[in-house]
Parts: sequence; C-alpha cells; structure tokens
Amino acid sequence: MVRPITVFGIDVEVIRKTGARTVKLKIDRKTGRPQVIIPFLYPVFMAQKFVESHFVWLQAQLKLTPPKTCFSDGMTLCILGRTLCIKHEENRRGGAFIEGDCLIVTGNAEHLHRRVKDFIKKQVADYAVVKAKDTARLLNKSVTRVTIKDTVSRWGSCTSEGHLAFCWRLGLAPLYVLDYVIIHEAAHLAEMNHSRAFWKKVAELNADTRRAKKWLNDHAAELHSFL
Ligand SMILES: [Zn+2]
Repeated sequence: MVRPITVFGIDVEVIRKTGARTVKLKIDRKTGRPQVIIPFLYPVFMAQKFVESHFVWLQAQLKLTPPKTCFSDGMTLCILGRTLCIKHEENRRGGAFIEGDCLIVTGNAEHLHRRVKDFIKKQVADYAVVKAKDTARLLNKSVTRVTIKDTVSRWGSCTSEGHLAFCWRLGLAPLYVLDYVIIHEAAHLAEMNHSRAFWKKVAELNADTRRAKKWLNDHAAELHSFL
C-alpha cells in the first residue's frame, strides 16, 4: 500500500502494479477519485512529477466526473419509477422499508448508505427475475440465474448458460429503462450477438428501445454518481 500523493491540493491514490510498463493517470470510475498507476519499482517522487505535468488534464477530468455522493437523510430518489424520500429513523428496526412516500432507514447513520443500496439491489433483483423469466418464456428459453452487480462498463450481461446479470444502479432509472435492459439481455438467450436478428427481437419485445438507450446515454454519469 503506497500513501496517496497530494498534487496542488488534490489527493491522488498511488497504485503499484507488477505488470505495469508505463505510468498511467486516471479517474477511478467507482469512486470518482484520481489514481496514478506505476510500475512496481517506480519511485513515488517521479509519479508526483508525472501527475504535476498532467495536472491540467486531471482538473478537466475531475470536472467531467462529478464526485460520488452517498445516500442521505432527506434525499429524494426515484426507485423503480417510484419517488421516495429517505427518512432516517435511528431507533426503529427493520433495515430499509417503504412507508407511504418514504423509504424508512433504521439503525446507525453510518450504515444508511449501505442499507439504501441493499434495498435498491433487492428491488432490482426481485423485479429482474420476474421480467427476465417472462421474456425468456416468450422466446422459449430459460433463465438459470439472475445476479445484481456493480458494473461500470455495461448495464447487463448474459451467458450462454442463461445467467443474466444487471447493474444495481438501474434501479434509479425510469422503469422503461430497466425493462429495456432486462429485455435486451433476455433476448441474448435467443441471439448471442448484436445482429439484425437480435435487434429485431428486441424491437418485437419492447417498444421503448430507442428512448431507453437515449436515456441511458444521457444519464449514465448520474447513475454512476452514487458511491
Ligand atoms: Zn447486448
């Protein structure tokens, strides 16, 4: 573990990588924090110099990548298309649950973010299982497993064994967007590619494809803005 370096007031995580051949500066998409990746024996002061010489670039990237936010008391979220206000009630029990228009989160404040995240994951999982199975049935295929992940580069995936996976962040997108991603992945059970035949199937199963794809393009950063 290398201590982070501070470059003109910005903390940059230093990661030594055995396989790295060159120095690389990037923004970690999971945390929104800058990282410099250096070869194993590379001196830290050289990494510092490297970041300094790329500081203008780093600043521009940080502007493009909003800092990650935690869920907090009083925050309004749209979960599976339902608007809910987070209400922290420390002394109650039951984890996270809906009561009227509120998402009640019980227990210690330090667990609030994780509890809300777990709640969203569970909602996405329950919904995706039903929707994916329904879609697969229309295609005479079957779903073997549905997993909820925190993927950065894609919203969903499908294996030839019928294992579908979805990113939990889709729970914060409008329902038609989540529907589209589930249908897209389930359609891969019939067509394991992005051929014309595949898109034709998706279009038959879902009328909102174009609108959903546009929404995901426009709001990806927003969905990834939560820690
Ligand atoms: Zn696909």
